[in-house]
Amino acid sequence: MRAEILCVGTELLIGQVVNTNATFLSRELAALGIDVHWVVTVGDNFERLGQAIAEAASRADLVLLSGGLGPTEDDITIEAIARYLGEGLEERADVRQHIEELFRKRNRPMNPTNLKQALFPPSATPIPNPSGTAYGLYAERNGTQFMSFPGVPFELEVMWRSWARPRLTGSGVIQSVLLKYAGIGESDLASKVSTYFQGTNPTVAPYASNGEVHLRVTAKAASSEDAEALLAPTVAALSAITPYYYGRNEETLPSVVGKLLLEHKQTVALAESCTGGLLASRITDISGASNYLVGGLVVYATRLKTELAGVNADWLAAHGTVNREVAEELANGARVRLRADWGIGITGWASNGPDVPAGDAGLVWVAIAGPAGTEAEAHRFGEKTPREVIKYRATQVALDLLRRRLLI
Ligand code: ATP
Ligand code: MG
Repeated sequence: MRAEILCVGTELLIGQVVNTNATFLSRELAALGIDVHWVVTVGDNFERLGQAIAEAASRADLVLLSGGLGPTEDDITIEAIARYLGEGLEERADVRQHIEELFRKRNRPMNPTNLKQALFPPSATPIPNPSGTAYGLYAERNGTQFMSFPGVPFELEVMWRSWARPRLTGSGVIQSVLLKYAGIGESDLASKVSTYFQGTNPTVAPYASNGEVHLRVTAKAASSEDAEALLAPTVAALSAITPYYYGRNEETLPSVVGKLLLEHKQTVALAESCTGGLLASRITDISGASNYLVGGLVVYATRLKTELAGVNADWLAAHGTVNREVAEELANGARVRLRADWGIGITGWASNGPDVPAGDAGLVWVAIAGPAGTEAEAHRFGEKTPREVIKYRATQVALDLLRRRLLI
């Protein structure tokens, strides 16, 4: 079955409202094994909506519409579908009753314009709306099914779950696993696994995502068990790409590092400069972090790097704040002074400024101090990269370095 999602609303076209209904319906259809070939957004314009309906009908077996079912002048979805069906509109007594009752229950006078929401083309079936006045519409023409829902996300979701989805199940499932990798770029990972991209069931698709790379492995089958069986060998092979593979689905670098520290019964302490505490913040996003995070120093001023983390003042005066030695001394200072098994030090230039040596904006040094010694890495994230991206990437590098040390 081939589906098309048609979202109606000028507010969507001008970026005033995020089209969460399209995302919701796309996910739901994927889970049912129904292919979505088109997602179209059109404004509250009768001609263009009519054109979009006709185009959708010409290429899809199922057209899901969202929005434009309200009582006002600009809510035109039902009229546009009626025009496509070549029908007029007639009042449905049961829908009118529902609307009148809703107003009675809410103790509000009904505006006569609300009765517009009781008008449907004769061949259509109204879809009950338990939470509002806008009934949906079901219609069929030339092998294409139409289902129209209100734009209000809560109402659309309830009507989808209670009315539409049960009528569409039975066409199989699509199941996917998201595999996550750190410390490798998208193209390097892609070239390592390129043979998998040719597969059709499961399919493998790469995504770059803020300092890490994801591979989505997706299988289509009659049942959930069959989909699992199709996924298993590919997921196993792609999870064996060490040391880059770090976790799957909802796992994150902070959650995986936390799990490893718990397993080792070890702790970590931080001395952050350019990341301003972001690493501590990300680590504490995980519940149970108090079992392995001792704490962190935010040593932004040069003076504090010495006073709180013990970085050599003469070295700082002679060589500046962003170099291997400073990162290593920050990591050691955190480890020793805050008494943890591991120490992480981060120092870098998050953007250009008067103190920044030419070409060094975006340069970050990250160091890890541990039971077997200290190591540091420099990363250049780009001179024009936004500060918050550089900070986030630096925390990704730090977490990944610690993860790798914990794997040994
Ligand atoms: P109502 O009877 O409540 O007016 P409606 O079917 O006429 O419902 P719209 O007027 O198109 O729906 O939209 C109502 C509200 O729902 C919008 O103001 C917007 O906040 C939200 N909305 C509409 N379309 C979408 C969408 N595609 N994704 C997310 N929210 C949406
Ligand atoms: Mg409306």
